[in-house]
Amino acid sequence: MSLHDLLVAQIAANGPMRVSDFMSDCLLHPEFGYYTTQDPFGASGDFTTAPEISQMFGELIGLSLAQSWMDQGSPTAFTLAEFGPGRGTLMADILRATKGISGFHDAANIVLIEASPKLRAQQSRTLAGYDPQWIDSVEQLAPLPTYAVANEFFDALPIRQFVRDGIGWRERQVGISDHALIFGLGAISPQPALAHRTEDTKDGDMVEECTAATAIIASLGQRIKDHGGAALIIDYGDWRSLGDTLQALKNHAPVDPLLQAGQADLTAHVDFEALANACPCAYSRITPQGVFLERLGITQRAQTLAQNMEADTLKAHVLAHKRLTHPDEMGNLFKVMGLYPEQGRPPAGLEP
Ligand code: SAH
Repeated sequence: MSLHDLLVAQIAANGPMRVSDFMSDCLLHPEFGYYTTQDPFGASGDFTTAPEISQMFGELIGLSLAQSWMDQGSPTAFTLAEFGPGRGTLMADILRATKGISGFHDAANIVLIEASPKLRAQQSRTLAGYDPQWIDSVEQLAPLPTYAVANEFFDALPIRQFVRDGIGWRERQVGISDHALIFGLGAISPQPALAHRTEDTKDGDMVEECTAATAIIASLGQRIKDHGGAALIIDYGDWRSLGDTLQALKNHAPVDPLLQAGQADLTAHVDFEALANACPCAYSRITPQGVFLERLGITQRAQTLAQNMEADTLKAHVLAHKRLTHPDEMGNLFKVMGLYPEQGRPPAGLEP
């Protein structure tokens, strides 16, 4: 039995499924899901994320979060949270970079929001020596000041897709033809949540909606509003998405999302406007990752690290710096949005 066979049987019995349900099963099915069964990261995996490219990424994120903590009077008990921590590399770099900040580690409760048992085990190995706590959902965050980061987490949350048809919308669905999975469209229906998209779309245009993402922002933003804190949301996407952004990656190359159910990474672009609209606290303008990292001093940090490097290590280090910041690489595609309390300062690197 494979996930493909399981989905075909399920669709044969119950009819076509929403793209969001397909995406959830592909990524997190308890037996066959991509994150449940694979180690997707790095050169030997299917994709490489910023924290896996260079330690500088996590170090600078750590300093930005610690700066917000100090700006808010260094609260003596707080949550240091990461959503979708992957291998745990980003959190390890955050913790190493903030070791010297007086009182920060003593006051921090490290909390990881992670769905995959396999990745929880990996995070536990990477963070040996610390005492992280794992939770399943944002609702379980304690009522404390909350300093949080999410890198390439929101792009993994399941989206629904709708195609404009007159004044209504047809939902894109996954159905079957013979034994293959195929895309189709459901009946026309009104979608009140898409009312704001009638101005900028025409017949045949596709828009996406991610209720899991907006629910998380609503809950996290409420914590920050009520108790203080800050959050850095880093992902690819833009202020408003239009068109089909569902993408499957295997061995660092795009593949058909319907052909490799559970075997490939599935993501969609993040619609930052939808996150902003759901956010109950203040939020920064979205800032390209390259600009954000430059403002936090990545070039100086890169030069310092380079002093102890030679030959191939130095070459890789220079390339990593470029990869994270250059507009033709990750510098522009990836955006950063900061959440912060209404009367507070935006996180360092995200100043207007
Ligand atoms: N932040 C890491 C990993 C990004 S991959 C990095 O930058 O390297 C996405 C991560 O989110 C994985 O750890 C995956 O298991 C986790 N994840 C995906 N969907 C989730 C969900 N609904 N709830 C919690 N974790 C989830």
